[in-house]
Amino acid sequence: MPKILIVDDSPLEIKIIRKFLGNENEYEIIEAGDGKAAIDLAKAAMPDLILMDIIMPGMDGLSVCKALRSQPATADIPVIFITAVSDSKDIVKGFEAGGQDYITKPFHSHELCARVKVHLDLKKSKEALLEYAQEMEIKNKELSELMVQLENSAMTDFLTGMANRRQMMQRIKAEISGMKRNGGKATLIMADIDDFKKINDTYGHDCGDFVLKGMADLLKSVIRLEDILARWGGEEFLLLLPGIDLEDGKIVAERIRKIVETKLFPCREKMISTTLTLGMAELDEAAGVDASIQKADEALYKGKKMSKNCVAS
Ligand code: GH3
Ligand code: MG
Ligand code: MG
Repeated sequence: MPKILIVDDSPLEIKIIRKFLGNENEYEIIEAGDGKAAIDLAKAAMPDLILMDIIMPGMDGLSVCKALRSQPATADIPVIFITAVSDSKDIVKGFEAGGQDYITKPFHSHELCARVKVHLDLKKSKEALLEYAQEMEIKNKELSELMVQLENSAMTDFLTGMANRRQMMQRIKAEISGMKRNGGKATLIMADIDDFKKINDTYGHDCGDFVLKGMADLLKSVIRLEDILARWGGEEFLLLLPGIDLEDGKIVAERIRKIVETKLFPCREKMISTTLTLGMAELDEAAGVDASIQKADEALYKGKKMSKNCVAS
């Protein structure tokens, strides 16, 4: 039930307004006989609407309204001034003080009821709109978070958590653009686990997954911060070394090969050893991304044919 606060120094006026508002079941009516009591009651009871006399001894209606507007808790409670004066200056003062509307005495019951209804409806709509805006803000935030998650998952390999092929292509393209602007070199290493099928066949697919994750963590731990590592395919990893030429890249690749060779990957009670074959190619800005990757792939194939567990270019 909407709550209306009537503020008037005349008990008789309050009685008339109460009577004009009619049906007692429609509104909960509270009252204050002076400005100070009105401010206290408004704060305590939080009415939906205030009907306020302007001329009162002590604090007048305009000052009460200004005081209500200055406090966040009561700032939005609509105020309708009830005034004996129909002087336009007083009406303007009422609006300036923060009043929403005014009624001049003597007034009719139906006018009072109509204005009260309009302002109660307005307040309700405003509150509903605010609630809706807050809901929308929460939904928008959730949506943006989901979009970020989606974006990340579309760019990340599920098993190893490292960049996937899609992200890697973007990073290599960005590196090539940088090289076109600033010069410099970069090297690609295509690394493939040797005889991985045997690991799956011997220890089971889940152990194969353990080895893949272990290999991913190992590779991540040995590269520099600026190097970019991706899971390129099943048991294939692609590494981009910005600022490194083919000769220095070979040293890096050989270091990785040796580390992997001595590493044991635990799975259940088993310790699994494996090796990597690494194919090298310089990132060639003239030939482009695809041709450069193709070159690293061809070098890898050469290494597989040679002996596996080796670095080829
Ligand atoms: P090579 O030395 O010539 O590279 O031989 P290989 O056995 O490593 O290569 P091959 O291409 O014959 O087999 C790769 C295997 O890797 C087959 C495939 O089932 C397995 N594989 C691919 N992705 C996954 C994965 O996510 N988890 C596991 N456990 N196995 C995978
Ligand atoms: Mg393999
Ligand atoms: Mg392979």
